[in-house]
Amino acid sequence: MEGCGSCDLCHDRTKVVFGEGATNPLVMVVGEAPGEDEDTQGIPFVGKAGEKLNSILEYVGVTREEIYITNSVLCRPPNNRNPRAEELEACKWRLDLQIQLLKPKLVILLGKIATQSMQEQPVKGALSQFFPENLKEQKDGWLRYSVGGHEAKVLITYHPSYHLRSPERAYRTTLPHWTRVKKWVESERQAI
Ligand code: SF4
Repeated sequence: MEGCGSCDLCHDRTKVVFGEGATNPLVMVVGEAPGEDEDTQGIPFVGKAGEKLNSILEYVGVTREEIYITNSVLCRPPNNRNPRAEELEACKWRLDLQIQLLKPKLVILLGKIATQSMQEQPVKGALSQFFPENLKEQKDGWLRYSVGGHEAKVLITYHPSYHLRSPERAYRTTLPHWTRVKKWVESERQAI
């Protein structure tokens, strides 16, 4: 991917931020796009949002080494703007391939950009419509995503950067989501 020029984001990047973690992860976390720190270091989630993610993962009871972390696009958008639809589309085959090869049982999408990257149609309305407590058709509270013969559960929640902007609201809203993940991880470990 280091030589990828499939979208305009290739022009301003310092490093392609590919992703990191286990090769057989139970959980894959997908964020939005690399920021300045990630672009410099080539590692996902190393800035303030990364510190927040680390503390969330600690609550869940997993380490970064046990899971896999990547982003919806691998290159930093100029001035940290949101990735455009065509850029998400250009990087989607790589995300699909990572899911296909790594076979995580659970994919966690952080924020609207990550959610959009996995949808065929534009995401309209509030992100909260995808939260487990608001899923009407999925009685067990999990969405699903299939690619290359592999099906993963999907959980959608706020991006850690939202915790930095609105800590109380983010905490109140997402605590049930992360508690759900924590319990699921515990049950999966018992089943092994
Ligand atoms: S964001 Fe993805 S598709 Fe675009 S240049 Fe970077 S690696 Fe290629």
